[in-house]
Amino acid sequence: MRIDRTRLEGTIEELGRVGATERGGLTRLALSDEDRRGRDLMVAWMRQAGLRVTVDQMGNIFGERAGEPGQPPVMMGSHVDSVPTGGKYDGQLGVLCALEAIRTLDDQRVRTRHPVTLVIFTNEEGARFQPAMIASGVMAGKIALEDAYNARDKDGRRLVDELERIGYLGSEPCVPRPLRAYLELHIEQGPQLEEEGLSVGVVEGIVAIAWSRLTIHGVQDHAGPTPMRIRHDALVAASEVVAGVRGIARELGGELVTTVGNLTVTPNIVNAIPGRVALSIDMRDPSDATLDLAQPRLDRLVAEACRREGVTYALEHYWRVPYTPFDRDVVAAVERAAAAAGSRHRRILSGAGHDAQYMAAIAPAGMVFVPSRGGRSHCEEEFTPMDDIEHGANTLLGAALELAGGDHWTASNPPPGSVRPSGAD
Ligand SMILES: [Zn+2]
Repeated sequence: MRIDRTRLEGTIEELGRVGATERGGLTRLALSDEDRRGRDLMVAWMRQAGLRVTVDQMGNIFGERAGEPGQPPVMMGSHVDSVPTGGKYDGQLGVLCALEAIRTLDDQRVRTRHPVTLVIFTNEEGARFQPAMIASGVMAGKIALEDAYNARDKDGRRLVDELERIGYLGSEPCVPRPLRAYLELHIEQGPQLEEEGLSVGVVEGIVAIAWSRLTIHGVQDHAGPTPMRIRHDALVAASEVVAGVRGIARELGGELVTTVGNLTVTPNIVNAIPGRVALSIDMRDPSDATLDLAQPRLDRLVAEACRREGVTYALEHYWRVPYTPFDRDVVAAVERAAAAAGSRHRRILSGAGHDAQYMAAIAPAGMVFVPSRGGRSHCEEEFTPMDDIEHGANTLLGAALELAGGDHWTASNPPPGSVRPSGAD
């Protein structure tokens, strides 16, 4: 059984036009007018496919293809929001390949024991409302609904008010529900699959992540009359920390990645010695133990850099997610499906967070990766070749079918409720 590549390509192009940028990318921030138009288009396609569409309290959209009564569904999907000037593959590909898989089941007149449900999660990116993956977080019971509703964008608008404004404040409770499995296809957002000439990554888990914030307090003073010997420059200490954070990854080696991505300098003008610097530290590794080694190194690095410059500081390790392994049986099903689809594949870890991370807390979960050209994402240059998308979609279809217990309708195996031809018994 194979998906319809031309039809899939058509939906990728059509949804990609909603919020399209001039340079081939996408700006479709969560709960914006563009997000509403993208959602409306998806809902129309889901209804055309005969799915039973519902919306929950967090604006998550579900489209169910029926199975046998009382069976928990195989859920698959991703998100349709994007970062500003992002790409049209991140997230979208997951929901569109899931839709294509469902359309293929219909074309082939396949019935499944378990229902198959398409899901679109709200505000995965965290570009407009923080934290990221907020709606799957609520569903998994990791984020309180109240806190999510009160998340505000930079203009002070509340998430719940924006949900209501675009018409996606649903009534279904956003709580854990019984699931046979959760599957998510996503772009890799790294270079490994492309470098190795592979079409499909069988994702085994999501790396452990540690976030810290550091505020350095120096002495703000005039850049002219203040001699070098009496300065306490917060930015000089911060620059040592920035270089040192990279040094931690170099020293510990392996797959550890460390980043200072955000730096706020006060007063940030030409002729003043910086009195205050706030910065972020992001460290990720497949092993929790490596992060346990990295964190005290960060503590020492900051203490020494600040001592040398004679400045004070506050360092806070405020967010830590352990390594999230995906379900062994689901991973094996994805691997079998990739092999059956004739896709060049291997097992891989995700360096980025996804809704699947939260879903893994309440359901047997797994992911399918497809390559990102140049490893790039969250930019207009984001691209995945159609050949690889086709392999990924067929892998998703195969895994969903196996997990849902698929069967062809035949004379001796008719759809539920139909009359068996006489003599067939
Ligand atoms: Zn994504």
